[in-house]
This record gives sequence, structure tokens and C-alpha cells, in this order.
Amino acid sequence: MHPFALERPRDLRSALALRAQAGRNDIATEYLGGGTDMVQLLQENVRSPERLVSLGSVLDKRIEASPQGLRIGGGATMAETAAHPEVATRFPLIAQALLASASPQVRNQATMGGNLLQRTRCPYFRDTGYSACNKRKPGSGCAAIGGENRWHAVLGGSEHCIAVHPSDLAVALVALDATVHVQGLSGERAVALADFHRLPGSTPHIEAELRPGEAVTAISVPEHPVNRRAHYLKVRDRASFEFAVVSAAVALDLQDGGRIREARVALGGVGTKPWRLPKVEAALAGAGLQRDALRRAAALAAQGAQGRGHNDFKIELMQRAIVRAVEAAGGVA
Ligand SMILES: Cc1cc2nc3c(=O)[nH]c(=O)nc-3n(C[C@H](O)[C@H](O)[C@H](O)COP(=O)(O)OP(=O)(O)OC[C@H]3O[C@@H](n4cnc5c(N)ncnc54)[C@H](O)[C@@H]3O)c2cc1C
Ligand code: SF4
Repeated sequence: MHPFALERPRDLRSALALRAQAGRNDIATEYLGGGTDMVQLLQENVRSPERLVSLGSVLDKRIEASPQGLRIGGGATMAETAAHPEVATRFPLIAQALLASASPQVRNQATMGGNLLQRTRCPYFRDTGYSACNKRKPGSGCAAIGGENRWHAVLGGSEHCIAVHPSDLAVALVALDATVHVQGLSGERAVALADFHRLPGSTPHIEAELRPGEAVTAISVPEHPVNRRAHYLKVRDRASFEFAVVSAAVALDLQDGGRIREARVALGGVGTKPWRLPKVEAALAGAGLQRDALRRAAALAAQGAQGRGHNDFKIELMQRAIVRAVEAAGGVA
């Protein structure tokens, strides 16, 4: 492991001052949240910053629910958030996605801000024995395209990177129209979660819409009728402690009689960012919960999907996951 200095600032402003260029991976100073991802990357020499700025004691950890919605401090842990009674009852999609993530030990340590900015699990990114990885080393190529790509994206990829965004939480949050609150030395701003993670394009090493030095300070989710009737379906290679092969986050507002008034649908495990599906949502609006109608709507998720060989199966699997998650949210599974 490359030696580094650990800074423990007294307050957020000092932390922001210490940090030069958050959101990029070509810099020598980085933030540290709970460290559950960062420490792995340091151990494997994937990251080698000169300095880490710990946000542990300076970020807001409060979780507050009001009639307008939910606000979660960026320093709250995944475990605290999942266990919060208002999250569990009013925003079950968030609690379900968190509880399907990692392990209790990781969830006790990992922060909500760090979760959104965790790095991809692409094995070529995480193993420095592979020289070609544009995300780790810009301009070096992509070993996954033409290599083993079972875990990779079928939506949102470019010729420079097809890595999947790994966060379960982000998939639930994008379905619920969440907002990410960020702060830098020049002030605070809010970014829709749908816009927060970037498509890889030709710069896959720049992953988030963060300006130099900005930190994630909070996440907010608006109150909405879809929030309470939701299901997070995670398909994975083993029952726990595993990332998604495919996941589907669904939230529904049902009319009397069971027809869908409004649906929110997002996918994980298949996109280079958390993948919202407005066309599927539009097709579900007004539909009943019969399997044929759901299947027709889910088929729209495949528009624009591109398999790379080993991951071709995801295109069918993600449609089935949507159908199952809608049925579960609608109470007919
Ligand atoms: C064994 C294992 C299994 C896992 N399984 C899953 C899973 O199934 N699903 C899932 O979603 N996740 C999974 N994870 C990932 C886990 O959720 C993340 O490691 C964790 O959420 C990261 O949070 P952290 O606070 O520890 O971040 P850190 O590791 O401290 O930081 C992660 C990144 O975010 C940056 N960062 C941290 N906080 C901030 C902030 N507030 N503002 C700006 N930048 C910041 C850091 O610089 C770093 O680049 C797993 C992790 C492990 C180790
Ligand atoms: S998919 Fe992205 S992260 Fe994986 S090897 Fe290619 S460039 Fe690197």
C-alpha cells in the first residue's frame, strides 16, 4: 500500500479546504467516508492518494422525515438509515435496497455519501495486473470489451468503458426522484440523483457531477404516493454478501381495483449508472397487474441494450426482474 497522510479535520469547512478535486480519480487527495471501499482500493494499489481527508466526524448524520419527505445526512451509515422507522415504513424501497447490500458489518461502517461514490466492481479496474482500464488509467483501453464481461453493463456503455455502477441504494433513490446535496468551498448546491452519476463516454474516470473539492452532505427524497408500495428485487450469484447481477427497483401508486396509476422503475447491475426507465413507467401507467401487460411494458427496457457476449443474458433477465418486482410491489407475486 502506498503511504498516505490521514487528515481528521475539525469541521466540514476545514475538510473542504483540504480536498482539492473530488469526483475525479487523477488526483492525490481524496475523501474518506466509512472506508469500506476506499481501504480495499488502497490495499490493492488501485488508488494511491498522498492524503486522505476523513469526513467521519464532520458530516451530518441525522435522518429526518417530514410531511415533505426524507432528508438523510451524508454521514449516516447504511445500517442506521435502513433501521430508521420512518425509512422502513414510508420509504421501504430504500430500506430494502440497503438491507440487500453488502453485510451487516459493512453496513454498520459505510456512509450514505460513500455508497453513492463507491467505485465499480469491474475486476479489471480492481486488479492492477491488467494494464488496460480507462477508468483506472485514462487512455489505456478497456480489457472488459472483448474480455470476460459477464458482470458488465448492457445499457449506457461506450467504447471506452462498460462498467456497471455497483450501488443498490442509488437504484432505489433514482426511482424515488432523490436529490443529492453537495457542498464545496464556494457553497452548496443540489443535483438530481438522475444526473449525479455520469455516463462513461470518453472520460469514464470522471464518475460523478462533483466540482473540485465538493463533498456529498445529504440526500433528500420527496414525499409521493408511490413511496409506500415498493419492491427491490436483487438477482445475485449467492443469497447474501454479493453485488447484483440484475436488480429492479419498483414503486407503485395503485388505483382502486388494482390498476397502476403511476409507476417508478429503475434497474441496477445492467447500466453504467443507476438506470431509470421512463418508457416502461409510461407503459405501466393505466395498466393492470396481469403478466402479459407487465411483460409488454418491461420489454421496453431492452431498447438500446447492447450485450457484449458473456452478459447477453442480462437483457432477458432484466425484463423478468421488472415483471417480478412490479408483481411483488402490487401484491400479486
Ligand atoms: C464485501 C463488500 C460487499 C459489498 N456489497 C455491496 C452490495 O451488495 N451493494 C452495494 O450497494 N454496495 C456493496 N458494497 C459497497 C459498500 O456499500 C461501499 O463500500 C460503501 O457504501 C462505501 O461507503 P463508505 O462510507 O465506506 O465509503 P468510502 O470507502 O470511505 O469511500 C468510497 C468513495 O467515496 C468517496 N467519498 C466517501 N464519502 C464521500 C462524501 N461524503 N463526499 C464525497 N466523496 C465521498 C471516497 O473518496 C471514495 O472514493 C460492498 C462492499 C464490500 C466491502
Ligand atoms: S469496463 Fe471500465 S472499469 Fe472495466 S476495464 Fe473497461 S474501462 Fe476499466
